[in-house]
Amino acid sequence: MPILKGAKAVEINNRRIINGEDADVMQLYPMRHTFAWDAYTVGNANHWLPTEISMQRDIEQWKSRDALTADERTAFETVLGFFTTADSIAANNIVLALYKHITSPECRMYLLRQGYEEAVHTHAYQYIVESLGMDEARIFNMYREVEAIYSKDNLVLGLNEGIFDPSFKTGTFENDQKFLENLCVFSLILEGIFFYSSFAVMFGFQRQNKLTGSAEQIQYIMRDESQHLNFGINMINAIKQEQSEIWTSEFQQRIIELVKRAVKLEYTFATEVFPRGIFGMNADGFKQYIEHIADRRLERVGLPTQYNVANPFPWMSEAVDLNKEKNFFETRVTEYKTGGTLDW
Ligand code: FE
Repeated sequence: MPILKGAKAVEINNRRIINGEDADVMQLYPMRHTFAWDAYTVGNANHWLPTEISMQRDIEQWKSRDALTADERTAFETVLGFFTTADSIAANNIVLALYKHITSPECRMYLLRQGYEEAVHTHAYQYIVESLGMDEARIFNMYREVEAIYSKDNLVLGLNEGIFDPSFKTGTFENDQKFLENLCVFSLILEGIFFYSSFAVMFGFQRQNKLTGSAEQIQYIMRDESQHLNFGINMINAIKQEQSEIWTSEFQQRIIELVKRAVKLEYTFATEVFPRGIFGMNADGFKQYIEHIADRRLERVGLPTQYNVANPFPWMSEAVDLNKEKNFFETRVTEYKTGGTLDW
């Protein structure tokens, strides 16, 4: 067949997470960042929808007068107040800031899956709020009204502003650092720290056999989020390799300082959620848990740990492990239609 004059093959070695040389973002192969394809495959295998999880018991418990204490109700609502907007912030960051600057087609492909999963998560919170007959406007507006939620969101939104600018372009030392900083704030802090005390609260309820439908929703969300976090860390480490000149010691120090600021904000949030402590969990336990989690994130991108404390909630890792063993299809109400069973 006739070949276009001057056409050339894509060089795998020119593939970069950002600044790929004459990057053809339409052409999936040759594939360099195979971790992205693996994440995409795992994401598909983990597909779920909030409406498949029964909320019946939660509805009964939420409506009954004595199943939950006033502190438990406040904790649950505050955590939902954070969750309901956090995944929309994540989705915006993916679609409006990260996506267009990424020149690896396989990373873009996973980001499309990840963006959809953030929408499923927002759907899950909406479904919990609606099922329990909560005041939607109040819960969804909490990030503007509750200072501890606002401060967390503000840290992420403020630092990410620059790369939302339509004129922002990668390709200079300064801008590439700005981009990598965004990725670190997004992955290590928003997805890696800010969700975790809220996850712990939800599993605290589950361990008391309370609001177990909501907790199950959160288990599926946490399974997705641990993939998002892995993928983000893989991208950070790939950029570090591809453009090692931007990973200066000054830049590393800046990321460590940001993580430490995030730890303080997350601790302030935890004290707001647990002014008196419930389920044997209190603000001190949370402080240590958040510090433990922050060290794990720093480690994964090759930065020195800062706190070196033990995990006070070892059952949190079990909550994740259980997910891996659980056969989702056994507990599901519906199954997904495959090509072979689609009836037009
Ligand atoms: Fe996410």
